[in-house]
Amino acid sequence: MLPPGGRQPTSFPFKAMKTIARISLTVFVLFSASALFAAEDAPGYTDTPLIPGSPWKVHDQARPQPPKVEPGRGDLRRQPPSDAVVLFDGTNLDRWKGADDAKKRDGIKDGAFDILATGQLSTIEEFGDCQLHLEWMTPETPEDRMNWGNSGVFLLGCIEIQVLESHDSFIYADGNAGAIYGQYPPLVNPARRPGQWQSFDIIFTAPKIENGKQVEPAYLTLFYNGVLVQNHSEILGKAAHRDVPGVLNVDKGPVILQQHGSAVKFRNIWVRPINGE
Ligand code: MG
Repeated sequence: MLPPGGRQPTSFPFKAMKTIARISLTVFVLFSASALFAAEDAPGYTDTPLIPGSPWKVHDQARPQPPKVEPGRGDLRRQPPSDAVVLFDGTNLDRWKGADDAKKRDGIKDGAFDILATGQLSTIEEFGDCQLHLEWMTPETPEDRMNWGNSGVFLLGCIEIQVLESHDSFIYADGNAGAIYGQYPPLVNPARRPGQWQSFDIIFTAPKIENGKQVEPAYLTLFYNGVLVQNHSEILGKAAHRDVPGVLNVDKGPVILQQHGSAVKFRNIWVRPINGE
């Protein structure tokens, strides 16, 4: 149907159509090739199982990276409230268990400790529902790119909030700093540059366990450098690498700081048990 006063368009020349088709095909081939190369370069996996309840696979190469945001200020050097359990005030690691007491002592310098020097640490006390504040810094100089600044904060001793140099997001989405490892990428990426202090403020609700089985899941909210990156995320289970989360059957456990071959520093760590825990 032509509009009033409209004219029948002239038929498109066949030769021009062929040229357009050829150009389109070339563009398509080039685009596909670049997408293929990009996928090959992208960190992550294509052969891992699906995360339960998610369209994404564990460490999915295709999962979108969280958008970057510049954090504001004011999240660092936060003073513990009067009812907090101070886990590290810059002077000693008496509330932590490590493999080697001498390393634990010698790893402290200038009010911070280096997890590569101290070795992996685990709180002596166990926690369930809690608010946890801690500050960390990845090494300034590049290490192995996939492992630069790798550490982690484990709640209940088995749920990992990833610590990693993520300013340039060189890992699969669910492995970035602020991810619940292997489950949820951070909502956004507010990473500071390596060699700068960063903070986590965690609000954790432990699962309800009855007769050794989970009857209500755990939930985790996380502010990373003062920015909300996990919003009441339902914990799917214990942290796993390249596998679905493991069965979670504990409602209390230590906070563990992971030694993963990188000289990540920590300072100003305090926790507030909540909900009568
Ligand atoms: Mg880690």
